[in-house]
Amino acid sequence: MAKHKAVESKIPLGEVLEPTWRKMLALARQQDVEQGGIYDARASAINLWAIPTDMPASWSVSDMTRGAWGPSEIVGTIYGRSTVDGKMVDVELDLDVDMAGKGEEGTWAIAKAVGLIEDAQKVIEPVKNDRIFCRFCDGWIPAVLLNTVIDHMREKHNLQVTTIMLAPQPFLVTNAGVIPL
Ligand SMILES: [Zn+2]
Repeated sequence: MAKHKAVESKIPLGEVLEPTWRKMLALARQQDVEQGGIYDARASAINLWAIPTDMPASWSVSDMTRGAWGPSEIVGTIYGRSTVDGKMVDVELDLDVDMAGKGEEGTWAIAKAVGLIEDAQKVIEPVKNDRIFCRFCDGWIPAVLLNTVIDHMREKHNLQVTTIMLAPQPFLVTNAGVIPL
């Protein structure tokens, strides 16, 4: 715990259908940190735990507290708040760590949170698109998952994605500016 200051950083991840949120909680329970996963699902929140086999790129095992189930450290929490009509859930990621360094914690936590949303959506909602236009390639890239786009931006264009806005008009915030999707 000592190395990472608690700095509140709220990242809106957009709205999902209520069944998608329930599926996210179920998937998180299946990948619980006590069973070798990285999640820890509560009533309306899902904690994200870094573990030695899955942690922010800038971390080492020595950054983690030796917990009952092995070295681990909480990186952030995904909160789901139901909308007034209860059909949608507003999803927000709170980062628990100091992002003043390389921002790797944010990149990791956003990827995990978005990955969980997309894993749930794959089960709950039909896939609507299987490709996304990349303005840097000036062409379409196959991408069912936003994670694929994040990897593409990093590997092909050397861009670090720091924030993803999923709704209503999705865009990525990168170190080179905002990229509409
Ligand atoms: Zn590209």
